[in-house]
Amino acid sequence: MQTHLADFIKDSSEGQEAEAILRNCVHCGFCLATCPTYQLLGDELDSPRGRIYLIKQVLEGAPVTQKTQLHLDRCLTCRACETVCPSGVQYGRLVDIGRGIVEKKVARSFAAGAVRYALRQTLPNAGVFASLLKLGRSTRPLLPGVLRDSIPRIKNSQSAGPTLSQPPVQHQRKMLVLEGCVQPTLAPNINAATARILDKLGISLIKAPNAGCCGAVSYHLNAQQEGLDYMRRNVDAWWPYVGMEDDAGGEGAVGVEAIVMTASGCGVTVKEYGHLLRHDPVYAERAARISELTKDISEIVEAETQALVSLLGGPLANKGDAKKSRLAFHSPCTLQHGMRIRGVAEKILVAAGFELTYVPDAHLCCGSAGTYSILQPELSQQLLKNKVTALESGQPTRIATANIGCLMHVQSGTSLPVEHWIEILDEKLRDKDTRTVESAAQVR
Ligand code: SF4
Ligand code: SF4
Repeated sequence: MQTHLADFIKDSSEGQEAEAILRNCVHCGFCLATCPTYQLLGDELDSPRGRIYLIKQVLEGAPVTQKTQLHLDRCLTCRACETVCPSGVQYGRLVDIGRGIVEKKVARSFAAGAVRYALRQTLPNAGVFASLLKLGRSTRPLLPGVLRDSIPRIKNSQSAGPTLSQPPVQHQRKMLVLEGCVQPTLAPNINAATARILDKLGISLIKAPNAGCCGAVSYHLNAQQEGLDYMRRNVDAWWPYVGMEDDAGGEGAVGVEAIVMTASGCGVTVKEYGHLLRHDPVYAERAARISELTKDISEIVEAETQALVSLLGGPLANKGDAKKSRLAFHSPCTLQHGMRIRGVAEKILVAAGFELTYVPDAHLCCGSAGTYSILQPELSQQLLKNKVTALESGQPTRIATANIGCLMHVQSGTSLPVEHWIEILDEKLRDKDTRTVESAAQVR
């Protein structure tokens, strides 16, 4: 695609990055069929190719209107288009750049701006989110419909149940974990289950007290500088644990092997810190190292699959209770398209004795997409309905996923329990431990 960027952007690093991305697009249209919003709306401007064209016009200095903003807002940033693009167009980066510019040129209504501001103030702040959720749940019957429906319900799955015990830090092998902002309140057992499994595999999980939101909420709501500040805060919080002797790690540095992400939405963002902060003279190098160390929990457990299968009593002992073991796996977009990690958690679950049902159109977004379910409720609900139908079609007994946003969103549309796959694995290990104790008691 030929481009002639306008003076206001052409010499900036964002302009140059966007231009390089635009030039890779050959208009082939392979990406259209895979785009959830194009499938629902059938409008080229709600397809990746159409949005790329809109962004090109913005960067070339054409007038920017609310219509431009609407089509960019409707994009889920699911990045399914990147997965199928034969030219390697980095659509996710391009749409972030385009949205940032459009946000500055097109004013939102007071109400729309206020909702976005409120989301930026509450979601990234774990304490504020926990208090507001408590208040919202207690006053739910008094609230107007839209607000009432946006408050996550407490479901009967282990994610939201009584918090599991966490093992003490006792191993030489250590990894950091990101607590996240909404996950500790909505599903505290995900990180507890992760710590328990890794402990059994000889790895202690530790937390950096000053780490917080990964920055994705603000960044994708076009408050990009605010998002970058959250990222810098995490780099500062984690750096002393990275343990590079000749740098800020200094005395007492722990030297963690990895920074573990249990929410793929955060993982995809932290893996991009190096790129997003590459021009920051103070943070560029450290951010790149943080991204390098960042791993989704599936990547960590995959490397330990053999040890895990042994803990479960070997491959033949792994067939479990049929009522518990028939799973539909919902792979979040941030896992399969963003981080390009495909089939890994599924392979681990199968090795652990679970049966995975076939899920049609598994590449399509569930409609959660960060704050999309709140800002674009109609499209989000249609996608949710389609996703739940697909997940339930193989008659599973439960649904497994890998991201808190998808977990809560899918749970709102089904009566089946929806859990993080790591919790399901932890439950299996706990069942095995209980059976071992019972058989030992019988022998005595
Ligand atoms: S598939 Fe890639 S190259 Fe083809 S139109 Fe879509 S983004 Fe452009
Ligand atoms: S990111 Fe998803 S919704 Fe947005 S254009 Fe690409 S496929 Fe469509």
